[in-house]
Amino acid sequence: MQSELKIYNTLSREKEVFKPLKPPFVGLYACGPTVYNEVHLGNLRTFTTFDVVYRYLTHLGYKVRYVRNITDAGHLTNDAGEGVDRIEERAVLEQIEPMEVVQKYTNSFHEVCRIFNLLPPSIEPTATGHIVEQIEMVKRILANGYAYEVNGSVYFDVRKFMKNHEYGKLSGRNIDEVMEGTRDLDGQDEKRDPVDFAIWKSAPANHIQRWASPWGDGIPGWHLECSAMSCKYLGKQFDIHGGGMDLKFPHHESEIAQSVGADGIEPVRYWMHANMLTVNGDKMSKSKGNSFLPKELFAGDHAMLDKAYSPMAVRFFMMQCHYRSTLDFSNEALQAAEKGYAKLLNAYKTLQALVYIKDDAKKSAEEIKEVNELCESIYDKMNDDFNTAEATAILFEMSKKGNSYKEGHISVSTLDEETFNRLNKTFTAFIRDILAIDKEDTQGDNVTEGLMGLVLTLRKDARDKKDFSTSDKIRDELLKLSIQVKDGKEGATWSKN
Ligand code: AMP
Ligand code: ZN
Repeated sequence: MQSELKIYNTLSREKEVFKPLKPPFVGLYACGPTVYNEVHLGNLRTFTTFDVVYRYLTHLGYKVRYVRNITDAGHLTNDAGEGVDRIEERAVLEQIEPMEVVQKYTNSFHEVCRIFNLLPPSIEPTATGHIVEQIEMVKRILANGYAYEVNGSVYFDVRKFMKNHEYGKLSGRNIDEVMEGTRDLDGQDEKRDPVDFAIWKSAPANHIQRWASPWGDGIPGWHLECSAMSCKYLGKQFDIHGGGMDLKFPHHESEIAQSVGADGIEPVRYWMHANMLTVNGDKMSKSKGNSFLPKELFAGDHAMLDKAYSPMAVRFFMMQCHYRSTLDFSNEALQAAEKGYAKLLNAYKTLQALVYIKDDAKKSAEEIKEVNELCESIYDKMNDDFNTAEATAILFEMSKKGNSYKEGHISVSTLDEETFNRLNKTFTAFIRDILAIDKEDTQGDNVTEGLMGLVLTLRKDARDKKDFSTSDKIRDELLKLSIQVKDGKEGATWSKN
């Protein structure tokens, strides 16, 4: 019998059997990137974790609505909700529009997701597209008496909230610890208490990004964005909320307080937190200077890298580790993963090429039992809080089986056809749909890039000759292959849907 899916819930600090609110539907929300710079490999680890959660739940037959937002306003340089807006700061630095910053880094994020085989979410809402919902939520919190307005900013009143509800239960922080961390930040004079946080921030006169609100021109609070968008698309209570460990406090703790403060309902049933990608034990982060970008990894173009690595080998490197454990980056570890990955992929090809030949040879009951046990236990591992580390170990066991059949010292016919098919189906599902590590590597991408370059050049030639019927034909035919061509000032670009 197949085991039930269990998820480690940060809130209860226990693995709990997963029971969706409205099966077969599942609502899944993951905090997306703040698009003011390029995502580094650490960010990508967290997004990959929730990609696997999305893929596995879908594989199990759930109808998942996966919402992953884009933070394109309101995320200040200090996570406690003070400092300057990251996107605004970048726009001023680069002397471009904030929305140009947002577009540039959203595009690059999507490109990285595509290369890493991350499925697009069902909905990818932007914070700036949901200002109305955020203002409405601030109003509800104010009406319930859990927030107050000062000089055009609205702050969440943590002490007042704590009279009726808990604050700190997700992260395990107590309020005095929180006080320690917030003492020296600016903007404190407006707050009744240093632990309060902004849910709407008045925009300084020279701020480019600004929206009209009942409290004057301002920008939304970062924590509030996720509360408003998850509520809009998944409801006041939904199944799973994910993000990196470092978002537990203050971001997620504040999300709970806001939702309860606005609507009186606990927003999330299962809180999932992905652990950090580290370098020599330190969290990878841009500010520490120990981060690198996916494109640097694929080109081997960074002082920390001995060589280039393929995107799928890197994805496999992540899969070999459980998402709640830290994963330490090193060239040695990546090279080991690369070797393991090559082995696995060879076995995958071997298994795919094997054909079951019906004959009268005696079946091996022992072999049939072993293969069936492997097919069952790989699901047990995934059902144990998405343990991809142990699932990949089982894939290696399965590879051994596949290779042995190929070499013929156990003929395929030692298995009955049903078991043989089950092995093939399970192995393929894990490689292709769940861990999703079988995408063509960069080499394949280069060929595509080259071919597309050629096609777009031919199209341009046609346009230059005013042969619009040919150029439109090329565009329409590409669209049938889900390739979209966009004409811009710099020429035509393409993207695959
Ligand atoms: P940000 O764009 O800074 O909001 O971060 C996007 C996501 O990446 C968040 O879920 C973070 O928790 C996550 N993250 C940041 N640094 C790391 C890291 N070193 N390892 C894993 N996840 C990270
Ligand atoms: Zn969030």
